[in-house]
Order: sequence, then C-alpha cells, then structure tokens
Amino acid sequence: MYPDVQLHIAGAWGAGSQGETLPVLNPATGETIGRCAVATRDDLDRALDAAARAFPLWRKVSAFDRAKVLRKAADLLRERADAIARIMTLEQGKPLAEARLETLAAADITDWFAEEGKRTYGRVIPPRADGVLQFVVREPVGPVACFTPWNFPINQAVRKIAGALSTGCTVILKGPEDTPASCAELVRAYLDAGVPGDALSLVYGDPATISGYLIPHPVIRKISFTGSTAVGKELAALAGRHMKRATMELGGHAPAIVFGDADVEKAVSVLSGAKFRNAGQVCVSPTRFLVHDSVFDRFVDGFSQYAKGLKVGDGLDPETKMGPLIHGRRLEAMEALVADATARGATLTTGGKRIGNRGNFFEPTVLTDLPLDSRIMNEEPFGPVAAIQRFSDDAEALAEANRLPFGLAAYAYTRSAERAARVSGSVESGMVSINHHGIALPETPFGGVKESGYGSEGGTEALEGYLVTKFVTQANF
Ligand code: NAD
Repeated sequence: MYPDVQLHIAGAWGAGSQGETLPVLNPATGETIGRCAVATRDDLDRALDAAARAFPLWRKVSAFDRAKVLRKAADLLRERADAIARIMTLEQGKPLAEARLETLAAADITDWFAEEGKRTYGRVIPPRADGVLQFVVREPVGPVACFTPWNFPINQAVRKIAGALSTGCTVILKGPEDTPASCAELVRAYLDAGVPGDALSLVYGDPATISGYLIPHPVIRKISFTGSTAVGKELAALAGRHMKRATMELGGHAPAIVFGDADVEKAVSVLSGAKFRNAGQVCVSPTRFLVHDSVFDRFVDGFSQYAKGLKVGDGLDPETKMGPLIHGRRLEAMEALVADATARGATLTTGGKRIGNRGNFFEPTVLTDLPLDSRIMNEEPFGPVAAIQRFSDDAEALAEANRLPFGLAAYAYTRSAERAARVSGSVESGMVSINHHGIALPETPFGGVKESGYGSEGGTEALEGYLVTKFVTQANF
C-alpha cells in the first residue's frame, strides 16, 4: 500500500550510496509504514553534477517547449490524484479528500507556471545615441536547491519546482522526510512528463547536513526554503555568507480581526474551517482571533460549537474532517501551549487534550481571554489550538495585529469599506484577506514580510526569484 521511497539522482531512482534508510510512520497509528532512502555526500555530489550538466541544456529549451512538458506533468498529476492522495494521507494524516485536492491544486499550479514561464519578458530602453540598442533580458539564475516541509508534502514542493523549471533552472529538491512518498510521486510525474532526469533530483536525509552542503556549494545559485523562522534564519545566514539568492517562506501567526459590524456567522464559518484545516498545521492559518466585545460571545460560541463537532480521526475514514498531527513533538507542543495559557489564567472553552494514546490526535481546542505573555500569543501554534481575544476599539486590534515579528497572512471581517481599507493599509503582512479566505492561488503572490521571510511563491512575483537581470547595450559597427 505504501511505497518505499528512493532518491532520484541523475536520471535514476535508487537507494543512497550507503544503503541507509529512515522509517516513515503513519501519524494516525504510529506504525512504521515504509522506509525512505538517505542521501550521502557522494549522492549529493552526483545530484550537483547532474544539475550543473543539465542547466545549459534545459535553459536552451524554449519556454514554449518547457511549458508543454509541464502541462503534461499537470495532466499526469490529475490522472494519478487518487493514488497519490492515498499515499499522502497514510504518511501525513490529512483527510483523503484534502490530500486529493492538494494533488489537483498541484496540477493547477503546474499549469499556471507552465504558461507564465512563457512571459518572462525583457524590455528595450531608449538609447542616448543613434545606432545604440539597449535591452534587458531575464535569464534563469541557475541550479536551485529547494527545501520543503511535511504539512503540504506536494504543494510546498510544486511551487518551487514549477517556478524553477518553467524559467529554465534545474533543481535539487530535499523533500520532507516525514512525508517522502507523495513528494516523490510529484517528482515522478514531472520526470514521466519529460523533464530531463539530470534537471530534477530528489534527495532525503539529515536536513541540516544536506542544506549545510548544498547551500555553500558553488553549483547552487539560489535556495528556496519553506519551514520555521528559526531554521529559515540559519539558512538565510548561510546563503548570505555565500552570496546566494534566497526565497524564505517561513512561519506566521496570522491575526483575524472580527469587527462589531461583521457578518459574524460567516466569520465563524470561514475562520473555524481555516483554523482547523490540516489540524492547524498551515503557515497561513488564522491563529490570533481578535474579536470585538459586542460580538465576542456569539463568535466564541459558534467557533467552539464547530470545534466540538469536528470529527477527528484517521484521514482514510471518509467521515474524518481533521486528522492527526504529524509527529509526537507537535502533540507535546500543543500540550505545553495549553498548559502555559491556562496556568496564566486563560479560559479553556473546549478541547485541550490529546485524544487516546494511539496516533497523534489532539482535540480541536479553543482558548479565550489570554494574557498577552502567554506563549501561544507569541509563538506560532502550528496545531489545532485557537486563541480568541476581545477588543473594544479598532486601534487596539490593529496594534495587536502588528505586535509580533511575523507578517505572513492577516484576515478581517467587517461590513465597513473604511475599516477594510484601514486594515489592508496598516496591517504588516504579505497577504491580507478580507471577508473571505482567498489566499494561496497560483496566480496570486504568496509570501511574507518581517520574520515571515522574503520572496514570493505565487503570481508573477514567484518567477522573479528564479530570474536574473542582464542589461545589454550594443552599438552599430
Ligand atoms: P522543524 O523546524 O524541525 O522542521 C521544519 C521543516 O524544516 C522540516 O521540513 C525540516 O526538514 C526542515 N528543516 C529543519 N532544519 C533544517 C535545516 N537545517 N536545513 C534544511 N531544512 C531543515 O520543525 P517541525 O517540528 O518539523 O515543524 C514544526 C515547526 O516548523 C512549526 O512550528 C512551523 O513553524 C514550522 N513549519 C512551517 C511550515 C510552513 O509552511 N511555513 C511547514 C512545516 C513546518
């Protein structure tokens, strides 16, 4: 049912050169379901050689023909979506329907980058002298090292590999060791569609060892990382030391402001769904709910009812709406955040505990009226625990929204156009979604500010990260 996972290097799937493997666990049962190959220094060297060899060839394939290959990869992902979704649910835990949607979304992302890669236009600059031609071209930066996490095993990776390959870059992807097989199926779809074997390598192993070797390596020209702010800062520092371009897609702690004039039922329905999706393991998850006094009780009641009614279980069960957390460390993190908040006087409205002792299940949890120094008001929860605070004036809510060093996503609900404009104008975040949840489409920018990172993984901006600018000026003979 669950495939053992191999590395893909220089056009061939295989074991690591030392034959070492890591276990892959099903987070719903705790059972070992397979093994994942571990890359050695030799394997990384082979992947680097392949990426370097393929770059001058792949960049010369026309954008039009690269797009054809990517469109084929998107079709293969759609054809294989059911099988891939099952693998993803087994290793990641999310409900099967969500795993399927993630795979189909990866196909859409691939299609979008395939098309947008044809539009990496340059420009002509009027010269100061007759007979001079001045122009600007956009060229692929070179081989890219990508590092992606387990929460969206396919979609975190597809944004990077589609962006890189569509612009003519080659890729070494270090996929997520906790969820390696669905990410490997993504790579397989790209290779089966015609991406040259040398142009796309997939490795797994010890994350710090791999990033510590690839980032400084002269073959690598750019890195792209998705993960925690703490790790992102280390990798960005390493990239800086070696003058490598970087895209950093890091943690958030998204404020969701519900004003007194909001459609409260809609706010409850959209925000509760978004909060507990993927068991809260989403970087743009709404996490700090700031609710006006006049609607606070209605909001908390509705939100808590949703949390209590949420069917938690194995993602393979069609009734399940929320699966387990990825590993035991996240369970411990949730227990510690709840214990800290309640010890400081917060109210536990629902949930708060681990469910059973098999698998990493945690109750959908709602905390209210938290002291600002509670850990959860300052650290990204990355799990199914919501923190709901009350406010009485708008300025107070906006100040709280901007209090933390993160700046990824922000949400607001209001019927006032003036309030909506004030939120979008003053919130320090890379994405703002007002009166609906409209974040993470392939055609719209996706990225943060402040300690949530830099660069974008969506929209035209995503291609910028893989392109360098060359200015050419040429006089007639
Ligand atoms: P973690 O920090 O151990 O790992 C997070 C991710 O970073 C993993 O994919 C891991 O393989 C990778 N990583 C860790 N050290 C690395 C290194 N030196 N070089 C390259 N990659 C490295 O945390 P975890 O317990 O697995 O996940 C929990 C935390 O990670 C959360 O608090 C959350 O902030 C963050 N996270 C963020 C995202 C996101 O979408 N931004 C996704 C997953 C995890």
